[in-house]
Amino acid sequence: MSGLQVVAVGAHPDDIELGCGGALLAHRRAGDQVTLLVMTDGAIGPQGTNSRREEQVEAARLLGAELVWGGFRDGAVPDGVEAVSRIQDLIDEVGADIVYTHSLHDTHQDHRATARATFAAARRVSRVLSYEAPSSVDFTPVVYLDIDGLVEAKLELVRAHLSQVLGCGLVDLDAVEAQARYRGFQARGRMAEAFEVHRFLWSPGESGGALAESSLSGTTSAIGDVSAVDGALPAAVPAPARP
Ligand SMILES: [Zn+2]
Repeated sequence: MSGLQVVAVGAHPDDIELGCGGALLAHRRAGDQVTLLVMTDGAIGPQGTNSRREEQVEAARLLGAELVWGGFRDGAVPDGVEAVSRIQDLIDEVGADIVYTHSLHDTHQDHRATARATFAAARRVSRVLSYEAPSSVDFTPVVYLDIDGLVEAKLELVRAHLSQVLGCGLVDLDAVEAQARYRGFQARGRMAEAFEVHRFLWSPGESGGALAESSLSGTTSAIGDVSAVDGALPAAVPAPARP
């Protein structure tokens, strides 16, 4: 095992891939270990539970990530001790260095509850970032992660959630790509994912050095399709000043 331990928490199948799929691909390229915690199986959606579970399993496989289910009821994710413990147990088990979760600025109650529970569970984690969702409102990113060269791979992760892409129009691949370009433009780059910051400890040279070292050690061979993608080393960068 090498690199950072990354935990991404999402309320439903596809939330994580939409919000930070590119970031997680960048972590995998860098040799980091990624664990997905999906709080519910998305049973309320217009498709069968089995298909959404299977789609999430496939997305995790493409990503080369561990998948853990929270076991909570779709539409009724709690933010109390039960949910906090579930998330904290996983954070402790893997020794998470960085945690991605929903934003509080979201119209979906499950997304907000997942964010609140994660913030409590990650109280001792130095890096906690919130990703955006189609249901985000007043989302105000301050950190951007360069996903230039990873957008196609991100779209593949999202395509794994076929019932959402084809079945009910809740996921639009063109919008996902356009959003990456827009966030990249905001970050004075090309393609990016955007994050709100709950907490972010940053040391110049530390993460960049680790990324460069793991990249040179050939760890990309373990992550399938992603190894074929070229591009600059992705790294979290502070946001530029707002106009
Ligand atoms: Zn969701």
